[in-house]
Amino acid sequence: MTITKDDSKSYDDIGELTAEDLFANIYNELTDEKDAIIKDGAYKQSTTQKERLSFVSAQKADDLIKVDMAYKGGSIRWKPLPLELILLDDTIDVVNAAFGRILPECEDGETAFLRACPEFARHGVLESIKVTKENLQENWISLTETMKKEDPRGCMILQPFVHATSSAVLAPQQFATIGKGHDGITAGNERTLYFALNPTQTYMSNDINMINNSHEFDIKTGTTNYELEFVYKRDEEYKKKMGGGNEPYITQIRASPPNPPRASPFTWHTNVSCPNYKVENVNEELDCPDNTCLKVAKITGSAGTTGRCEVKDMTEFLSTSGIASLGAVWVASGLEEVAWLEENITREKCPKGFVISHPTGSLMSHICAHARQHGIPYVVGEVNVGDRFTEGTPTWLALDPNWDIIPQPYNACAPEYIEAFKAGLLRSQTHWQRQQGWFAHFFHQWAGGMNYNGINDAYLSGAFVGWMTKAILAVSLGEMRYCKDYKKNMMVDLWPTLTTMMGETKWREVSGNKHASTVRQHYYALVEQMNVDTIEIALALTWCKKQFSTGWGTSTSFGGTNWAECASRGANVCKSVNAFLVNPNQETLNELIGEVNLAKNLEHNGGFLYDKFLSQKAFDYSSLHSSGTDNQKGLFSHSPDSLAYMFRTYELASEFMDGDVNEKNAVPNADWITLFNFLRGKGASYFRQQFIANSLEIPEALRDAAVACGPKYMHWNNKYSTAEGFIPCGMSTCKLCKENDVLVMDLKYGSVSSQLLTNSYPEVFMASGKDVSSLESYAVASLLREKKYQDVTPQMWINGWNGLNKLDVTYPLLSELLQKFLRNQMSDNNTWTDEVLKVLKEEVQ
Ligand SMILES: [Zn+2]
Repeated sequence: MTITKDDSKSYDDIGELTAEDLFANIYNELTDEKDAIIKDGAYKQSTTQKERLSFVSAQKADDLIKVDMAYKGGSIRWKPLPLELILLDDTIDVVNAAFGRILPECEDGETAFLRACPEFARHGVLESIKVTKENLQENWISLTETMKKEDPRGCMILQPFVHATSSAVLAPQQFATIGKGHDGITAGNERTLYFALNPTQTYMSNDINMINNSHEFDIKTGTTNYELEFVYKRDEEYKKKMGGGNEPYITQIRASPPNPPRASPFTWHTNVSCPNYKVENVNEELDCPDNTCLKVAKITGSAGTTGRCEVKDMTEFLSTSGIASLGAVWVASGLEEVAWLEENITREKCPKGFVISHPTGSLMSHICAHARQHGIPYVVGEVNVGDRFTEGTPTWLALDPNWDIIPQPYNACAPEYIEAFKAGLLRSQTHWQRQQGWFAHFFHQWAGGMNYNGINDAYLSGAFVGWMTKAILAVSLGEMRYCKDYKKNMMVDLWPTLTTMMGETKWREVSGNKHASTVRQHYYALVEQMNVDTIEIALALTWCKKQFSTGWGTSTSFGGTNWAECASRGANVCKSVNAFLVNPNQETLNELIGEVNLAKNLEHNGGFLYDKFLSQKAFDYSSLHSSGTDNQKGLFSHSPDSLAYMFRTYELASEFMDGDVNEKNAVPNADWITLFNFLRGKGASYFRQQFIANSLEIPEALRDAAVACGPKYMHWNNKYSTAEGFIPCGMSTCKLCKENDVLVMDLKYGSVSSQLLTNSYPEVFMASGKDVSSLESYAVASLLREKKYQDVTPQMWINGWNGLNKLDVTYPLLSELLQKFLRNQMSDNNTWTDEVLKVLKEEVQ
């Protein structure tokens, strides 16, 4: 109970009252004021009047109501769920009115949550229950009766029920741990991740202290004596949308002993012969002759540099009294209620050297908070009596059965991390999403030596690098679509290349056309479906660089050399990843970090490179950087906006690790390595010789894509579509190629016509198909154009004429040449004409 002094009252006869009388008087007055809320019907508007708050003893409820009032008053920014206060002597009318106000705030419009708020956590076991209109009265009666018996000074809070997809426990200015579902951290969950918070940003600590001045931040240790709980519900579009989605709700301020600072896991190798190291504080000095205890050693001294660095068998550990000692192990499931823990798991009740093992736990679980409170060692993972461990860095243990582990500093290049990094990179090929740029936070944790998540940081770092290379590819290809309007030297191969990279079927699915689209989002959507690795992406980006390097002019704000630089940087990231994977060491890692940092800061035309689909905050929050001595920027901030981003990052990571392959994800039909190796060095002169739509020298996939594009997407209004610069597309239906047919024939056959005169025609010299004339037709036409009339024998002319094909784009030209020659011969050369007639007669017979 809280007694508030009311200055409007005067106690004239105060001298005659005993303390008890005074107490009773005030209590009665307060009770009258509280009851007046009911009598006057004020409960029909609210249940949290200050007259009623005087009767709230439960710290949890009291804090939450104050948070609610401060939020409504605009003095704090973290949003609580709407709430109603239910006192144990309230009537059903009060409960019904409160429920009526909560109902419109409920997700499904019908389910609310009735939370028991005991005065002290250790009294009794009280459940919180979901309530609907149908069972409200029944559940309220039953909970009220239990509470009156177990916790007569408790109360209840009625709130909308939220189907939270994740929840967090947050230690201000230290870190937040997020887990799946409504109760992911407090109950313990395998998929928990730590996020680092800005250590110098004080407004959250200050605001919580304003709510309740017993909640403090200790500047010396940088820790708080409380933790905050939040829940979050992800947006359906969370994988693609730029914003953080729904604001998280603050659900509890929970008093807790300070959290120890987080450290990176150490690495280790075994080398017992190393003279410099010493095993200290091994608890064998504690009485355990039969080796049935769980032992933890701290090892000091520098070790040799030989041996392989390992991180396996690493687990998290909370040591409250220096070291863990012998004794029994109790395995927590995470479902244990605080009240039960308070009754059963205390230092007094448990044997000496008792250890809590929590296989699905984390150092932010409520079981661990309990362990801190009671000075009981807590191990994340399974341990057995008799196990031996070495504690190499604060909060990290390694299983050490033979006492021969020599702890080494954190090393991002330990083999287990490299394996995890590779696995994450590989998974990115099939699970890439544009918002995974937020994994930058994990990349900097892993690479920067503030690894809060062990192996998971390395895995998500692989995902981040995979994200970055594909993101640069996605935005580069998205920009490339402007070549249509702005690239002055665009050739016949560009649009077919964009088309074949994804494939005609995929383009048709996304845009309705079988050739590459002019809509940016279509490119992003298809990159999600592309299963390509960093070797292939490097080739594609090198090609993009070449395309952006020339022809865009200097005045346009599309494409151009800025973009060539971006594509080139992306290719460099790919190359440094590939080099790192071949030879993972600190040097190649440093190069990779350097390339990643350069690529993070890329700009195009004065803007953030990824601004079409990623908030720049993804990189601002990724690591800590100083700006002046006390003012450190970076890492996640404490604002509701930043917390929403943090939760969304968790959702993305959790989906990346546990979710399905992207829909329609597949290896592209066209092999990118063949494609881009072919395109390297191929310029206008090449495509004038080998027509993209029909030359057998063109890779089949590219040739097919050229046909799918059609002349419209190959001839652009530039120097390659007119006069001497003309590059044919080679399609039989192309009007432009037909208009330029003399030129086309020259290009294709002129240079080789002499070969055709030999007796043995090189039969494979050119492509033949249903829509081209015979080799002899071309040969005869060539001779005629070169005015070598004597060389055209009657038989050759007949073969040439018979070989004409009306579908051939050059048919009119060939036919005209042969007819004209025949007309001339008939008037000038009787011998030749007679010979023709003779041969024709023979053929008829
Ligand atoms: Zn053409």
